[in-house]
Amino acid sequence: MNDRMDQIRSTRAPTLREDQIEILGRYGRTRKTEVGDVLFRAGDTQNDFIVILEGEVGVVDDFAGEARTIGVFLAGRFLGELNMLTGQAMYLSAVVREGGEVLAIPRKRLKEVVTEEPNLSDVILKAFLARRSYMMRTGLGLRIIGSRHSGDATRLREFAARNRLPHVWIEIEEDPEAEALLGRFGAKPSETPVTVWQGKDVLKNPTNLEFARTTGLEVDAPLERTYDLVVVGAGPAGLGASVYGASEGLSTLALESIALGGQAGTSSRIENYPGFPAGLSGFELASRILVQADKFGARTAVPQEAVGLRREDGHYHIELSDGGEVAARSVIAASGARYRRLEVPGLGRFEGVSVHYAATEAEALRCEGEEVAVVGGGNSAGQAALFLAGRTRRVYLLIRGEDLGKSMSRYLVD
Ligand SMILES: Cc1cc2nc3c(=O)[nH]c(=O)nc-3n(C[C@H](O)[C@H](O)[C@H](O)COP(=O)(O)OP(=O)(O)OC[C@H]3O[C@@H](n4cnc5c(N)ncnc54)[C@H](O)[C@@H]3O)c2cc1C
Repeated sequence: MNDRMDQIRSTRAPTLREDQIEILGRYGRTRKTEVGDVLFRAGDTQNDFIVILEGEVGVVDDFAGEARTIGVFLAGRFLGELNMLTGQAMYLSAVVREGGEVLAIPRKRLKEVVTEEPNLSDVILKAFLARRSYMMRTGLGLRIIGSRHSGDATRLREFAARNRLPHVWIEIEEDPEAEALLGRFGAKPSETPVTVWQGKDVLKNPTNLEFARTTGLEVDAPLERTYDLVVVGAGPAGLGASVYGASEGLSTLALESIALGGQAGTSSRIENYPGFPAGLSGFELASRILVQADKFGARTAVPQEAVGLRREDGHYHIELSDGGEVAARSVIAASGARYRRLEVPGLGRFEGVSVHYAATEAEALRCEGEEVAVVGGGNSAGQAALFLAGRTRRVYLLIRGEDLGKSMSRYLVD
């Protein structure tokens, strides 16, 4: 058990070898540091990737002046997060605890390291992914305050979860401190869901786009030019198409309305993706494809929803939900599957509150200890029923037909 914990820790905070630091030295510059220097701040989008050569640096979650040290990094270790490769904002700050020297590599050059230095690429990517998982488990930076019965609170939590945005969920029915916290940020329970980013940016029931802008999740790409290829949807299919398009020299843009990685991003383990015999999480798969797409110059814009398409002056014009548009010589729609909705009157009122279209950890938490009905007889219904059976009081499986075996695999039926 201890060995496993050590292994996880060393993946998250590996110590670089001399030869690896020497290679990294070609991509950046060294500089002296003093106690109290801030190497990057939560919310930064232009910060450098830092390798500590001498001294000590603390990584801090600073929520409304309540600084909490998440980790301490010594010489030979590096700081940074996956967002440095995706163009998104940092979630934590780094403050020098003991002066010394660091190697600072600009984000743009870090991308070159990750795509051109096989010796370092995996170490950096694996650490970034492990750090994100740790942050998701720990809950940092962002607070979402609301009611478990609110559809908008569910929407925001899902948006955060799909984007792997570390956050702390505070339920007003359960947490006795919730009301005081709301008061501190000038909000009332009736104005929930409320999001508080880094202890200062307060949003009352924001749209996904407002939420993404504030938390630095938004990835912008120039929309005023004409692309050779616009791909709608950045799940595995869309990201794959972007890699192929860009690697053939086409100027390529992927538009994604919710989260890079699509549905696959929510899968905890994908075992059947060719080339990864040991399996990998959907988030890791998406992150790897994203780095590859970026290497070939593909751009991504998220959250950006395509709502219309017209042909004009020999080009396609993709209309966006915020009123803007982008022009392209060709378009690939890789918008994935939509869940079929139940034809039940008034269903809309319950969606996101007590009717869900997935059975992931987020839904399990909401149903814990209750009775649940799973509607459907396919494999996903079978998997959902088995998963929820371990977490809820009772699961009913409702099917239209007579025979479960018609559409469900034998091992699930058994
Ligand atoms: C929990 C879970 C576990 C899974 N496990 C596995 C597994 O182990 N093995 C396996 O093979 N498959 C698995 N799957 C299925 C796999 O994830 C899907 O087959 C795969 O994601 C489909 O890829 P896609 O790119 O076609 O679509 P999606 O992943 O659905 O991506 C489509 C994307 O398009 C975006 N989009 C849609 N409309 C618009 C629009 N108008 N404008 C902009 N963007 C838009 C969506 O937001 C979405 O991100 C799993 C799925 C789930 C949910």
